[in-house]
Amino acid sequence: MMTKEQYIESLRGLNLNLYRFGKKVENVVDDPIVRPSLNSFAETYALAEDPQYEDLMTATSNLTGKKVNRFTHLHQSTDDLIKKVKMQRLLGQKTAACFQRCVGMDAANAVYSTTYETDKECGTKYYDNFVKFWTMIQENDYGVDGAMTDVKGDRGLSPSQQADPDLFLHVVERTPDGVYVTGAKAHQTGYLNSHYVIVMPTISMREGDEDYAISFACPTDEKGITLILGRQSCDTRKTEEFNSIDVGNPTYGGHEVLVIFDRVFIPNDMIFLNGETKFAGMMVERFAGYHRQSYGGCKVGVGDVLIGATATAVEMAGAAKASHVKDKLIEMTHLNETLYACGIACSSQGAPTDAGNYLIDLLLANVCKQNVTRFPYEIARLAQDLAGGLMVTQPSEADYRNPETHDYIEKYLKGVSSVPTEDRMRILRLIENMTMGTAAVGYLPESMHGAGSPQAQRIMIARQSNMGQKKQLAKDIAGVK
Ligand code: SF4
Ligand code: FE
Repeated sequence: MMTKEQYIESLRGLNLNLYRFGKKVENVVDDPIVRPSLNSFAETYALAEDPQYEDLMTATSNLTGKKVNRFTHLHQSTDDLIKKVKMQRLLGQKTAACFQRCVGMDAANAVYSTTYETDKECGTKYYDNFVKFWTMIQENDYGVDGAMTDVKGDRGLSPSQQADPDLFLHVVERTPDGVYVTGAKAHQTGYLNSHYVIVMPTISMREGDEDYAISFACPTDEKGITLILGRQSCDTRKTEEFNSIDVGNPTYGGHEVLVIFDRVFIPNDMIFLNGETKFAGMMVERFAGYHRQSYGGCKVGVGDVLIGATATAVEMAGAAKASHVKDKLIEMTHLNETLYACGIACSSQGAPTDAGNYLIDLLLANVCKQNVTRFPYEIARLAQDLAGGLMVTQPSEADYRNPETHDYIEKYLKGVSSVPTEDRMRILRLIENMTMGTAAVGYLPESMHGAGSPQAQRIMIARQSNMGQKKQLAKDIAGVK
């Protein structure tokens, strides 16, 4: 396994073609806007080195028998699935941000079982391709992104019906050695901190969509790939002279990029699906299921930090004893632990796939994510309620550091007399960061849309709800023949 330092050094070897704020970024690793997201990703390496987290952060590979980082593991039991969720909660607690590496783990587990079943029915060799690729990933402890979401154009039209054929990523040329692909993947979390990307289709495919039923892996800096960074609310605070208090979370963050593939060549042995439209849906459903489970871990860990920040803010203001304050903190905890309960439940009810790795209970994973589209918003609302308006009206750090205004801020922003004003400012800015700033991207809209928007879960809940059996239960009880 790589150490945190080895991981960061290895990223310097990538030649990413990244643009942000209208310019090419020459040094991605040290870029002040991107760096906090790298720091979050790097914690997945740092914690794996720490003996106290060995059980959660590492596992024994079914491919090589060696110890691997759990983020590269193919789950071998329900215990593995549960540990995955616990690991994600831990990382959320340590970073208060999206640490990004789960996407590749979830993609790998989905592609592993789907390629096995595709080969069995179609006589293809995708499983061998994937096992070879993933063994290399485990041996090198690489970071891997998973790219699913196409930009999708007109939602009323199928991939092959779009006015512009590139709105879903597709094969544009086939050669004896591989394929050329063109298209774009949106909202890609963690791409800049990953060595490889696994690309998957975004929806189930029908006959006629063969060129769009494509899955493969390639290096993140492959020729023909262009990246454009997504901006986040308050992101330029990271580039200001005084950039410690106002950013709220000075060390950690997340990022999303638009990834554009312009005739990227993919050799045959890196292809995991190529025209077998029937299996596109299986890959999508399994990846989405795993990532919906993931949110029952990561968002809960981030929620732990937000609840802790809120409890600290009310203490600093001298309001901790008020009964409504205590009750609101209880409500936040209740909501957060409900999300965790769903993450653990869908894991404990998992079952082996034909390939041997374990899949979560899909109904419970979708219920988990459906709750995640709601509860973090209520937790954030309560955090803002208890934090008070100072969270958004306090002066900047530059004013706090200016001798002409420092003493006034020190005096008038004081709460409980024993608490330094600067500490209070820091905690309030953290709450701002998590509910409206850069980290809110990961905690709120990502809770809504990441791993699929709410309606996508409702479709799956309908499909998995076993309504026929429920109706029969009622008829039996009521004596309806
Ligand atoms: Fe991991 Fe959560 Fe980020 Fe997805 S949103 S990559 S599960 S931390
Ligand atoms: Fe996500």
